[in-house]
Amino acid sequence: MEIKNKVALITGSSRGIGKAIALRLAKEGANIAINYLKNKEQAENVAKEAEKHRVKAKTYQADVSNYPEVKEMIQKIVNDFGTIHILINNAGIIPQHFSILDIPVEEWEKILTVNLTGAFNCTKAAVPIMIKNEEGKIINISSVAGKMGGTVGPHYAASKAGIIGMTFSLAQELLKYNITVNAIAPGPIETEMIKNLPEERKKKILSRVPMGRFGKPEEVAETVVFLIKCDYITGEVIDINGGYYMD
Ligand code: NAD
Repeated sequence: MEIKNKVALITGSSRGIGKAIALRLAKEGANIAINYLKNKEQAENVAKEAEKHRVKAKTYQADVSNYPEVKEMIQKIVNDFGTIHILINNAGIIPQHFSILDIPVEEWEKILTVNLTGAFNCTKAAVPIMIKNEEGKIINISSVAGKMGGTVGPHYAASKAGIIGMTFSLAQELLKYNITVNAIAPGPIETEMIKNLPEERKKKILSRVPMGRFGKPEEVAETVVFLIKCDYITGEVIDINGGYYMD
């Protein structure tokens, strides 16, 4: 797909990986819908930065885990931009507890609801619009944890593995509408999500990365651009993890 002049919704894009994707797609000439949960000011700043690329950029508050809010957001985007061609399901949270012995049931449910149901909600609301367009690109941000378990708990791993299963299933279902669905499985990427972890945990994570450094949000954004431009890839999961492995 040619990115220039397309409309892209990036969930959770007021900071981190989502912000890098939004700005990169703006640089490629896409008009940008920036979804955020709480921080309006940060989201507005991303919009201002995106507009420097002479594209349209607007912010939309919505909790991706709340379907009525998502439906309303999608409707507003269609009113503002006319349509949606690209959906990046990026919004996500990491848990506070990592061991099955400590994880409260409520935390399990919250992680699954935001990370997995959130991506389902946005996809469900956006797909009818893409079907009308007879084209669409959906990219789901999974994680190395979804393939290998990782270090951030079974609920996080399950939510990210669920994203991968959903990607495979939707890729098959939506092929006939010229909609591709792919996932990206990043290893540790230098964002606030990682920066806020205790030093010990950060060291442990880094010790698993043969390249010896965290990835950059811009490196994930580059992968997004590749997946949008290459029409022949669907139902794929691209690892971007510096050679991360289990010991
Ligand atoms: P981040 O915490 O900086 O950004 C996540 C964004 O999602 C935030 O802006 C947050 O407000 C938003 N968000 C959270 N809950 C939301 C909700 N209910 N509705 C709408 N927005 C919501 O984290 P990040 O590192 O940029 O992570 C982005 C994505 O990449 C996440 O899905 C994360 O799981 C995934 N990921 C991150 C890493 C990493 O090392 N940073 C590695 C693998 C995968």
